Amino acid sequence: MKIVTVGTGMAAAEFVQQLRQGGFAGEIVMCSDEPHAPYSPCVIPYLLAGEPADNVYWKGRDFYARYQVTPRLGEKVVEIDREAGLLRTASGRIENYDRLFYAAGSRSWFPRPEWLEAEGVFGFKTLSDMQSIDRYIGEHGVQRAVVVGGGFIGVDAALALRHRGLQVSLVHCHERLLERMTDADGGRFATDKLQQRSGIAFYMQSEVEALDCNGGQLQRVWLQNGTALETQLLIVATGFVPNSALLSGREEGIAVGDDLLADPRILVAGDVAVTRHAIDGPDGLYATAPNAIAQARVAAANILGGVERYAGSLNANVLRKHIDFPVVSAGRFEGESVTFSNDRLFRRVYLCDDRINGYILVGDTRLAGYIYDLYVSRQPVADKIQGILADIRGESYYRSLMGLAPVAPAC
Ligand SMILES: Cc1cc2nc3c(=O)[nH]c(=O)nc-3n(C[C@H](O)[C@H](O)[C@H](O)COP(=O)(O)OP(=O)(O)OC[C@H]3O[C@@H](n4cnc5c(N)ncnc54)[C@H](O)[C@@H]3O)c2cc1C
Repeated sequence: MKIVTVGTGMAAAEFVQQLRQGGFAGEIVMCSDEPHAPYSPCVIPYLLAGEPADNVYWKGRDFYARYQVTPRLGEKVVEIDREAGLLRTASGRIENYDRLFYAAGSRSWFPRPEWLEAEGVFGFKTLSDMQSIDRYIGEHGVQRAVVVGGGFIGVDAALALRHRGLQVSLVHCHERLLERMTDADGGRFATDKLQQRSGIAFYMQSEVEALDCNGGQLQRVWLQNGTALETQLLIVATGFVPNSALLSGREEGIAVGDDLLADPRILVAGDVAVTRHAIDGPDGLYATAPNAIAQARVAAANILGGVERYAGSLNANVLRKHIDFPVVSAGRFEGESVTFSNDRLFRRVYLCDDRINGYILVGDTRLAGYIYDLYVSRQPVADKIQGILADIRGESYYRSLMGLAPVAPAC
């Protein structure tokens, strides 16, 4: 059997490693429009911050040789002929397949694509983006940066640039940051903390209206309210578009069931896959590394002869790079809310039928593992959750292992 992957990203690398470790001896070809060994986009912010991050090549730089893969790098796949069982790359190369693993991920979405014509404007998605930004900062002695977009990726990028020593402004259209991974109170708490402690200048409820360039190079950005921000670097982090059109003709992701099949010969996984939620959320694009890896493992197990079903995705997010007050959340912010907060911490859980329906933890990660476990295991928690949330030192998990009640809630 010959297997071809579209993508060499997190899902595809995990899939191939699982196949080889499971004894698959057939031919494997991996196609990517990028030139790299498989890398983890999660690590890119550390590189942007100027920190050593060798683990960006999370499966090893020698991945292709180690797992006897034929890499087709810098070869964008431009056509898939499902009936013939073959794909074509931009250079005209044709690869036939017995099974296709489609894990093409997503790409940056630019509200104004023409901005990319200016030198100094970048997306923040790929290792190639990161290397271009890094080179540009070095070559132009960039001191100031503007990031547009205050979601997970925009905040991640802004914190990394600040850590590197740049003066950073973040422009966000909403009244609070991280609005998709928090509720109103949690988001406001996280936004206030970021404003007080990150050293980043925030322009909330603002949008970038226009760019000023000199000789094609970015000089400043203009906000809608007339504010001018002097900068040579603009990072656009306003969202991603799944790379699904190649397979489905549409850019909405590819819906798959628990077998992850788009058709009998094509498996789909990672940021491009629309899957069901593991607990009770709607079907959707749940674009995180753990979901991509879990899907890849199910797909590989089934190629190896197993009959595994994907258990569904979680919308769990952890923002903790370059800040000392992490933001952790999962699930839906609906139901009865139970909250503990002080000047350092904001902890809120939403309950439905006595079980955790969603949660937001800002300030530390002491309870993150325990609350996650209570959430996914669907244990009734209504009688003890107040005590758990008030547990400043994070002892309640260990107390639960010993059959003890959580520490008494703080007065
Ligand atoms: C800056 C950043 C930080 C992140 N931080 C976190 C984090 O902290 N925690 C977390 O869980 N998740 C994080 N993520 C998300 C995580 O990286 C993704 O969920 C994960 O990489 C998805 O894996 P994937 O294989 O679906 O896509 P990717 O890893 O993006 O791989 C997609 C692959 O498809 C290739 N490709 C696309 N189109 C074509 C084509 N036409 N032809 C050939 N090849 C093609 C690409 O070159 C690439 O190899 C982060 C993402 C970014 C960008």
